[in-house]
Order: sequence, then C-alpha cells, then structure tokens
Amino acid sequence: MLKPKMIDCDVVVVGTGAAGMMAALTAAEAGAQVYCISKLPYRAPSCTTRAYGDITWCDRATRDELFRQVVETGGFLGNQDLVDRFVHSVPRALAKLRVLGAQFDEPKPAAEGMPGTVRWSYRGTDSGQDLLDRIHAGARGHRITFMYGLAAVEVLVNRGAVCGLSTIGLKAREPVIFRAPWVVLATGGGAGIFARTDNPAGTTGDGIAMAWDAGADLIDLELISFGYPQARIADVLARGEELREELLGLGYAHYFLGGVRVDTRAESGPLSGLYAAGEVAGGLFGAARLGGSALADCLISGRQAGDWAGYDLGRLERTELPENLVAAAADRVETILRGNDWPGPLHERIREICWRGLGPVKTEASITRALEELDEIAPEIAFCGGAEREAIRLAVEVRQMHTVAELVARASLERRETRGCYWRADCPEPDDETQLRSIVVRKARSGCEISSQPLVWSRLTQPTEPRIGAGCFGYLQRQGEDQPRPS
Ligand SMILES: Cc1cc2nc3c(=O)[nH]c(=O)nc-3n(C[C@H](O)[C@H](O)[C@H](O)COP(=O)(O)OP(=O)(O)OC[C@H]3O[C@@H](n4cnc5c(N)ncnc54)[C@H](O)[C@@H]3O)c2cc1C
Repeated sequence: MLKPKMIDCDVVVVGTGAAGMMAALTAAEAGAQVYCISKLPYRAPSCTTRAYGDITWCDRATRDELFRQVVETGGFLGNQDLVDRFVHSVPRALAKLRVLGAQFDEPKPAAEGMPGTVRWSYRGTDSGQDLLDRIHAGARGHRITFMYGLAAVEVLVNRGAVCGLSTIGLKAREPVIFRAPWVVLATGGGAGIFARTDNPAGTTGDGIAMAWDAGADLIDLELISFGYPQARIADVLARGEELREELLGLGYAHYFLGGVRVDTRAESGPLSGLYAAGEVAGGLFGAARLGGSALADCLISGRQAGDWAGYDLGRLERTELPENLVAAAADRVETILRGNDWPGPLHERIREICWRGLGPVKTEASITRALEELDEIAPEIAFCGGAEREAIRLAVEVRQMHTVAELVARASLERRETRGCYWRADCPEPDDETQLRSIVVRKARSGCEISSQPLVWSRLTQPTEPRIGAGCFGYLQRQGEDQPRPS
C-alpha cells in the first residue's frame, strides 16, 4: 500500500478561482493556517479567469430593488435568506476588492435608481487572472500555502464532522492527505460534464460529487444555465423532439445554479466543518441569475466561508482523523494510480450522454435514456486511471462526473416544468401549482434519496409570472409580454 503524505492545517480550500482565493485569504486573515489547492497548474484557465468581468453592483438605496430582481429572475426558486445576505454584502465585497487594488469602471446602473454592474478596468483575454493576482498578493504575509497539481478526491468525515481531505499529487503520483477540521469546497460548477460548454477544462462538478459522497445535501442540481440562441428556445419548447438533432447542434452549458446546499454561513448541512463557496454551492439564485451575479457571489460566499471557518477555529473542538480512514482513502487513490484504462474515451462518453439527454433539449424519455447509459458504463469506471499526470486527473474527473451526471438526471426527472433556464420540452410551461419547491438529493443507504422541500420565502411571497430564458443571456419573448426590465 502507498504511504500517504500527511499535512496538518486548520483549513483546506479546494479551488483557486475567485471563491477559493477569497475564502483562503479571509480564513488566513482570521488567523487560520490555510492550504489552498488546485488540480490544475498555476495560472491555468478557470471560469474566473475566463469571466467577462461584470460584477453586480448596488448601494444602500438600490439593494431592495436588487433583491427583487434576483428573486424574480430566479422564478422565485432562490432561497431568500441567501439572497438577503447577497444583496447586503455586495458593497462590502466590492470595497474589499478596491482595498486589494482592483480597479473598476464607473458603476453601470441598469436604469436611473437601479442596481446594475461594475466592470473591472483591465480587460482582454483572461482578465480575471488579474483579479486572482490581486487577491494572491493580498495573501502575502499570511499563513497560506498554495499548491497546484493536487486533485481532491474525497472529504473525510468522522462522526458527522469533517476531519480531513484526501487528494492525489498529480506529479509525484502519491496520495496526499490533509488532517484538517474545516474544508471549503470552491471547485466551481459542473458545466464541463456537457460535451458543449464555454467552461474551461476541469469544470467537472468535483466538489458536488465530493459533498454528496460525504453525506451533504445537494439542492436544485437540475437548474443549469445554457447559452442558447434566443430565437431557438421557442423551438426547443414547441418542437423539441421533432427538431432534436438540429437543436442539439446549438448552444452550450454555461453555469450550474444548483449545487451544495448551504446556509447563510456558507456551511453545508448536515455535516459540520464543510463549507461551499462560489459556483459549487446552490440555492441562491433559483432558476436563472442576473449577469454579473456569479462573480459577486464568489466574493461574498468565499468571504463568508473563510470568516466562519476562522471564527470556529478557537471555538470548536477538532474531530480526530482515524487511521482506518486514512488507510481506506490511500487505498482508493492507489486504485486510480494502478488503473490500466486510459480515461479519455469514458470522459468524452459521459459528456456526450449529458448533452444529448440532460442538455437544453430534454424530456422525460431523454433523461431516462441518459440514466440507462450512465448505468451501462458504470462498471468501466473502476478500471480507468494511470500513472501519467493527465490520466490521473481525467480518472478522478470521470468518477466525479459520473456521480454528478446521475444526480442531475434524477433531479431533472423530478422537475416537471419549464422555468428560467430550466427547459423541459415535454413540460413547456411554468407550473406554480406543483413546482414551487426545491429538489434536494442526499446519499442514503439505499442510494439516492430525493425530497421536495418548501422554498425559503422570507421577504417576497407573491410570485410574479416566471420568465423563460437563461437570465444573464436574456429571456424568451412570450406573446403579449412586455419587454422585461433590464437586469
Ligand atoms: C466564459 C465565461 C464568462 C463569464 N463571465 C462572467 C461575468 O462577466 N460575470 C459573472 O458574474 N460571472 C461570469 N461567469 C461565471 C463566473 O465566471 C463563474 O461562475 C465563477 O468564476 C466561478 O468561480 P469559482 O471560484 O466558483 O470557480 P472557478 O473559477 O471555476 O474555479 C474552480 C477551481 O477549483 C479547482 N478544482 C476543481 N476541482 C478540483 C479538484 N477535484 N481538486 C482540486 N481543485 C479543483 C479548479 O482547478 C479551479 O482552481 C462567466 C463564466 C464563463 C465560463
């Protein structure tokens, strides 16, 4: 058996995008010893580096209006406690970026007296990297170690509390295990499980799968935003089956609205010590989001996770990491390193299954077919792996993608309507009677336990007519409908 390399620390942050960097910086500012890791090399593209640079802006006078816009855009499915935290935290998040040296153009309100967006002033390819560099520079002098080329595989849990994280060093080909009572998942979304996506390589929902395996609740995994030609959304809904092949050649997966269920501390229930920040977390936006709100959310929830992990540091007892958990985790890493099958084809296969069955043109029949196909390939997963850097990363991803794809499919079967960016060609209308609910999945002894849970409506309780479309990419114009307010 391979002997794992052991590292002791207070907080491990998985992900070096905007959410992870902000969580790491904040926890370190609170006095924690932090490791912040990424499976990709230093300066490799992430969604954050790819971002166009629009960030939600509001001030005191416009935050109630922002609240309304976020809730309405999400078709009333968003958790209003989380939205409340979001709108109150926007000015502070932007102020923090300014302290770190980020420069913005003048705020661009959507209209007189409205919230809107600001855009960072350094533009061009990969301008999000500049944002990360500034947070990185802010981390100097704190107890933060950044490690690249380290793929997280599983969160280790003892008696309902986090006690560590198992990872694979891709270069040294070795298990690396963190003994840490707080883990922040900031692994981004899962749009990379689809064959067509604008997300960079590696956006495969790893944090969602790890949280699931650890026993955390996942919320609204079916809600995924697709960039799609406006003019064709009506075709998807009216003639999806008939035009299926043609429609499948259009669009791309863009953003996961669902993910790890968190509370206003960014902590995931029911586990203690597990936080989720940025796109990996779900429940804030509901069925669609405003342009600019994803980056703002990363900064806000990252800060929240780091703050609370830092606060818990002197308050809570650490849970012990038992030797048998370490040995079992190292064993699983060894299985991947000893795998004989190159994982590339399986990686592609899952992406194809997801696009055809769970993508923008989906019906109950296509989702059921996707589940059957995922089932068929499941036995092959155990054999894939290898000793080469790329093979190891892809083998980790294949395992995580397969889990995420299955959960997305199961949640999609449960939501029988069309709302925001969630389109079902066989249920083309919103259904306020039966579908105003959250879909929560949890790992149970019997497999996947699915429940339908009441929505958190703490401020707005009269749903408006839901829009159909991708939110940040606009909405479908329906007959007799006024142009939606700009957002
Ligand atoms: C083309 C494009 C343009 C966009 N433009 C905007 C915009 O203008 N405004 C806006 O608000 N939003 C925008 N978005 C959305 C926004 O960029 C993302 O939602 C956001 O950046 C996600 O940040 P994150 O920190 O959650 O994750 P990411 O930036 O995706 O970072 C994830 C990190 O986790 C690491 N990771 C993943 N899995 C593992 C693992 N198993 N082990 C170790 N590390 C792992 C990755 O290596 C990476 O470091 C855009 C998205 C895209 C794709």
